[in-house]
Amino acid sequence: MNEMLNKKRFVYADNAATTQISEEVFQTMLPWLRENGYGNPSSIYELGRRAGFAIEDARKKVADALGAQPNEIYFTGCGSESDNWAIKGVAHKLAAKGKKHIITSAFEHHAVLHTCAALEKEGFEVTYLPVGPLGLLDPKQVADAIRPDTALVTIMYANNEIGTIQPIPEIGAICRERGVLFHTDAVQAVGNVPINVKEQQIDLLSLSGHKLHAPKGVGALYIKKGIIFPNLIDGGEQERGRRAGTENVASIIALGRAIELACADIPQKIAKVTPMRNRIIDALLELPMSRLNGDREKRLMGNANLSFVGAEGEALLLGLDMMGVCASSGSACTTGSLDPSHVLLSLGLCHEVAHGSLRLTISDWTTEEDVDYIIQAVKTVVERTRNMSPLWEDLQTGKKTVPFSR
Ligand code: PLP
Repeated sequence: MNEMLNKKRFVYADNAATTQISEEVFQTMLPWLRENGYGNPSSIYELGRRAGFAIEDARKKVADALGAQPNEIYFTGCGSESDNWAIKGVAHKLAAKGKKHIITSAFEHHAVLHTCAALEKEGFEVTYLPVGPLGLLDPKQVADAIRPDTALVTIMYANNEIGTIQPIPEIGAICRERGVLFHTDAVQAVGNVPINVKEQQIDLLSLSGHKLHAPKGVGALYIKKGIIFPNLIDGGEQERGRRAGTENVASIIALGRAIELACADIPQKIAKVTPMRNRIIDALLELPMSRLNGDREKRLMGNANLSFVGAEGEALLLGLDMMGVCASSGSACTTGSLDPSHVLLSLGLCHEVAHGSLRLTISDWTTEEDVDYIIQAVKTVVERTRNMSPLWEDLQTGKKTVPFSR
């Protein structure tokens, strides 16, 4: 075994699944759970008013990070809720005008795909655009798919598995020109890619706190001013009456601080993290029958998704776990399923190649030493896993072949 691996370390390389709350964010949220911040924001006395003001301050921070107005931001319970609300909200509103067609991509997160499937059961028609071998859409595909009865285009900003970044401003321009509402699931993009909803002509945008060092259980939906939209939860006047329920005060405040921090220095982070990610990709592509999944350039700074034919993804994860490396194979949300992920299949990969996938998602918290360790650990585990794999043996002896290209 490589000498470096004799000294086991813990390396978190699964930031697309979730992130650790940063110390600063944690300290920011604490007083709002106890001390002088536990009041109900709807209460009229100072303890409550203080919480209410802090929520509005967080709303402004989220709005500033997106180039939106505070009254266009609605706090939700998670990214999935934001996606559901955006898509079902527009669909149900515009169905009354005879618009029952939705355009999306084949490799969206299940929060979008399953929402679209639910709408199909209600009689909506959904076009699932193919993403091509590199996991990228051509804006022309969207233009060609728009019909007179199209209610909504919903295309993710960046893919959660392979990290590819879609041409969102171009798609936004097409939708605006054609008079179709445009939603983007930006759960993986916020804090990683500069976003300005006005310049990029985005009408609705979903985000989630736990992907940017805020806690789990808080998200937000940007709804462009003027879009008429059904309420998500009827009840009290919280979130301007559109999503009732006493606010998750501490988490909302944490999200405000986290998004402010995450979006403050994106170009600097990209300059730091991209070379580290490239180092991982280049080193692991030295392994035989390995490939990078998704476009090399148009991808999130921290995402390295590779396939190692003959090395089962599950076995890779367990082997890496034993070495202290947290990674993922396919989407974290579908872990437990034996089917290869729909994202990898949407690239046209055969099952054998898709099954050998490994997603490593580093962040600006990752160090060069972590990168060294990740590379050595993955190389060791791939080799070990292949040595036990009947498929790998058959490939070596020529008994079997699989369609494989770099
Ligand atoms: N959309 C994308 C692209 C995601 O990656 C995720 C989570 O992995 C979600 C939506 C769902 O977000 P949440 O976990 O906050 O519901």
